Amino acid sequence: MTQRRNSAHIKAQKEGKKIDQYACFFCCRQFRGNHGHHIMLYSEGGEPSVRNMVTLCPECHRDYHNGKIKLDLIRF
Ligand SMILES: [Zn+2]
Ligand SMILES: [Zn+2]
Repeated sequence: MTQRRNSAHIKAQKEGKKIDQYACFFCCRQFRGNHGHHIMLYSEGGEPSVRNMVTLCPECHRDYHNGKIKLDLIRF
């Protein structure tokens, strides 16, 4: 179960980053190592799909989790 969820998750991350062309959702910096951030946590019913992912650069990702930036995370 955990394994399946992880591979679906990795696939969704890759697809999401490709759709965003590896550009950060917030600052638009393009970087292959950008992170895929979950809009909704699995524990809150989030699904492992591109609809639930957003691409963030490491800095914005950290700032987001530190509460420094707020994103309006509605993707579609
Ligand atoms: Zn950024
Ligand atoms: Zn995150």
